[in-house]
Amino acid sequence: EVPVIAIDGPSASGKGTIAQLVAKELEFHYLDSGALYRLVALKALQIGAAVSEENKLAEIAANLDVAFKDEQIFLDNMPVTDEIRTEECGLMASRLASYPLVRKFLVMRQRAFRQPPGLVADGRDMGSVIFPDALLKVFLTASAEMRAQRRYKQLIEKGMSANIHELQRDIQKRDQRDSNRGVAPLQQNADARLLDTTSLSILQAQNSVLEWYRECCAS
Ligand code: C5P
Repeated sequence: EVPVIAIDGPSASGKGTIAQLVAKELEFHYLDSGALYRLVALKALQIGAAVSEENKLAEIAANLDVAFKDEQIFLDNMPVTDEIRTEECGLMASRLASYPLVRKFLVMRQRAFRQPPGLVADGRDMGSVIFPDALLKVFLTASAEMRAQRRYKQLIEKGMSANIHELQRDIQKRDQRDSNRGVAPLQQNADARLLDTTSLSILQAQNSVLEWYRECCAS
């Protein structure tokens, strides 16, 4: 089987950054599963589908025309890499992610990323639902304040406007919804290792994951 490293955790915990760096180091593929939910959200916003319309949203998920190329993300052949990072998209994504039908239609699409020589996948249910047989499962988190600060920096660097207090409120709202939903709730798996990055540098966090992987799994 193609090896998988599953990195789950709350929003803005730094899991995307760490997962990408680990993938680069090991020359593995990378799956940003949150991007898929954000793409469904963006498409829904574009065509004016309401958050209450589960069937319509599921249909969008089933027919999503997306491509991931050279760290760029395309929806219907249009680049949307930055557009899906807005808080509007994040909140909408978190709402529609609680629909079982939407999640169901994204399962095969996510598993298709599992290609030799290996995959690093980040999200909320990588270790629990999508890749339960992952060789290494990490639950990556950080304090709410630190996560708001990181998301703030990320948005400012992209030239977007942001308010740190609103961000912290939005992040907490999203975490609460993600943790309390009926399907694939955000939680640390019994077999996942906890990595709290509140006081770690990016390099330290990356090295922890790499060390765990070499310990347990690299042949
Ligand atoms: O990780 P990111 O913040 O980009 O994800 C956006 C939203 O998509 C999350 O708030 C969560 O509700 C949903 N999501 C999910 N399962 C995943 C990845 C993301 O439900 N594997």
